[in-house]
Parts: sequence; C-alpha cells; structure tokens
Amino acid sequence: MRKVTIFGSTGSIGENTVDLISRDPSAYDVVALTGGRNVARLAEQAVALNADLAVTAFEDCFEELKALLAGTGVDVAAGASAVNEAAERPADWVMSAIVGAAGLMPGMKALEQGKTLALANKESLVTAGPILLGHAQTHNATVLPVDSEHSAVFQALVGEDIKSVERIIITASGGAFRDWDPKDLHKATLEDACTHPNWDMGQRITIDSASLFNKAMELIETKEFFGVRPDQIEAVVHPESLVHALVGFNDGALMAHLGAPDMRHAIGYALHWPDRAHIDVARLDLTQIATLNFRTADPDRYPALRLAREVMEAGGLAGAVFTAAKDAALDAFIARQIGFTDMAEVVDATLSTLSGEIAASGQLSLDSVLAADHLARKTAQNIIAAR
Ligand code: NDP
Repeated sequence: MRKVTIFGSTGSIGENTVDLISRDPSAYDVVALTGGRNVARLAEQAVALNADLAVTAFEDCFEELKALLAGTGVDVAAGASAVNEAAERPADWVMSAIVGAAGLMPGMKALEQGKTLALANKESLVTAGPILLGHAQTHNATVLPVDSEHSAVFQALVGEDIKSVERIIITASGGAFRDWDPKDLHKATLEDACTHPNWDMGQRITIDSASLFNKAMELIETKEFFGVRPDQIEAVVHPESLVHALVGFNDGALMAHLGAPDMRHAIGYALHWPDRAHIDVARLDLTQIATLNFRTADPDRYPALRLAREVMEAGGLAGAVFTAAKDAALDAFIARQIGFTDMAEVVDATLSTLSGEIAASGQLSLDSVLAADHLARKTAQNIIAAR
C-alpha cells in the first residue's frame, strides 16, 4: 500500500485527489489530510479514507474538528506548525494543494522525506522555485507538476532532451472576461469574476484566471520548473481549454497535449507516475470538437502577463514580491475594497516600489523570501489603503 498525504484536501484540487484515491482505497494508506476552515468536510474525508491524522490550519477550528472526529481513531491537530508536522510523517506521495504562500513550508518539509511531491501549489515555485527544487535535489526527492499546463509539458517531454526544446506554449482559457470589451473591465464585479467558462476551481484561482494572474504565475512556474529562458515561453488564449500546452522542438515539431478540462487527468498522472493507469474521466471526441481556436493573449486586456515577463527578467525576489502583492490585491478585490482592474495596478506599483530590494536580491534563501513576502504584502496593503 502506498502511504499518501494530502495538503489542502478540502479544496478543489484536494477533493479531486480524494476522489481518485477513494476509487481504489485498498491501494492507499492515508497518513494525513489537512484543511482550513471546512472542518466538517475534513472530518468526513478523514473517516471515509481512514486517515491516521486530520489537521486544520486554524487553531480556532481545533475543538470543532476534535468533536467531529471523537471516537473515530483519527488523530487531530491544528495550526500552521501542526500542518508542517504532518509533513514529517513518512509518506510515499504527497499532494501539495494548499492555496497561497501557506503551501510553501509543508512542501519543503515533505521533500525532506525524500519521496514524491505532487505540486499544485504554484505559489511555491513562483516565490521560491530555486529553493524548493534545490531542496528536492538535496533530499533526493521528486517534484511532479500538477497544474494541467505543466503536467502537459512534462508529459510532452518524456524521452526528450530539454536542450532540443525551442519554445513552450501554455494555453489560457481567457477566463470570465475573454469576450468583454477591455474598456468595460473596470466595471467587472466579484460575482462576474467568480464564474469560469470551462474549469471548476477554487474561488481565488477562478478570479486569477479572469485577470490572467493565474497564467502570469504559470509563465513564471514554467521558467522555474523546466529551466527555460523567458523568451522561450509563450501564452496563447485557447477558449476551449482542450489543448493544455505545446512544446516546440528544434526540428520544427510541435507536440500538443489534449484532454478534457478535468484536473483528475493531471492529478492522476502525478499519482501513478512514472506509469499510466486507467482513469475514468471523459474522453475527447475530436469529430465532435471539430474546431480549436487560438488567439493572441492581448497585453492591453491582460497586464498581468506583462508583469510576469518583468518578474521573469528580474528574477531573485521578484517572484515573491509579485505573489504577495497579487495575494493582497486579490484579498482587497474579494473584500470589495478595490476594483477588478485595480489588482494589476497594485501589483505593478508594489513591484516598482520594491524594485531596489529586488535588484539587490542576491542568493535566495527561505528567510529572504519570507521577508520579501511580508514586506510586499505590507507595501501592497499600503498602496491599496492610499487609493
Ligand atoms: P481551494 O481554495 O479550493 O482550496 C485550498 C485548500 O487550502 C483548502 O483545503 C483550504 O482549506 C486550504 N487552506 C486555505 N487557507 C489555508 C492556510 N492558510 N493554511 C493551510 N491550508 C489552507 O484552492 P484550489 O484547490 O483551487 O487550489 C489549490 C492550489 O492549487 C493553488 O495554489 C492553486 O493555484 C493550485 N491549482 C489549482 C487548480 C484548480 O483546478 N483548482 C489547478 C492548478 C493549480 P478550507 O477550504 O478547509 O478552508
């Protein structure tokens, strides 16, 4: 039996992972499940999967979780340090699906077990890619991509030499506003931004898809994960979300990865890697699809993509500043303090304000990344307050 742990099991990626594991319970021994405030669902999952441990990241949720799991034999813990401690319990395969910066430390800890980390938490790579991947190497651990685009690139690269890659193209659905006139985007409401045309995901990533901040993060993630230059990476809008990514090689060949917009493809690939296993999800019928559309990702409509290019060029702490500023701007948009188009302006202003710190980054360390995260959050919050 494979020992598995799922960080962020109550979220969208977590639920899809739980679903895949539940389909073959005799194959898995669930070591730990972690969640946030949805303790009712966490308790339900822990009982259904017979987990050894359930952890809520929030201490004020401890009593509720404890009561829900009383008499079940599932150990219970709470708080950020308890989440990190869960990562110290030996597991063969760990899913990193906490949203935001809180996903970094559990991922780092899990790598110390020297096993496989399936990485959905893109913030880890954007803020601390070289540290995370270096840590994996030090501990002889494997990091597998879970983001559908990066899983697609990873699969297209099986048996290939990265030196023969000319370019990597990741696709974007274009999000909720892909057909809006850019002049109207400032009027977009929270409700408008929370509707994704193709994918069923958590609230934050759905809004990030509408602003293309999600795609911006994925461009940076591509650079970090595959070690290619920024000018080798492109994003194109593909409204159908059926082609997830394409890899162009030096002989002119372009390998595309297609699949239904269902995260269980990418999660299942990471779960069974290096093998492929039967996964009961929708199959594509190309004759039904008939047409695939691709459009330029317009920088006027999507300033997040321009900012991602600047971040990739700057390197160092730019990714940490970008992620923290984006998070603070997203919090403010969700709290209805700022408008939809203000988010990119806040991130832009934060990057400009902290350009000196970014230029002086030097060798990244976990401490410098955490300090930059803190400083950028504060700076962005001040910029928001002053608007
Ligand atoms: P969700 O918001 O749906 O779920 C997030 C999970 O993290 C939940 O289990 C939540 O708990 C938990 N959580 C929230 N805050 C904290 C915290 N401070 N500490 C610890 N745990 C916390 O997110 P998604 O599943 O959509 O996304 C997870 C990650 O995967 C993100 O980094 C996202 O960018 C990435 N990703 C998501 C994709 C998708 O299809 N959804 C696709 C590719 C990547 P609770 O709900 O109980 O409060």
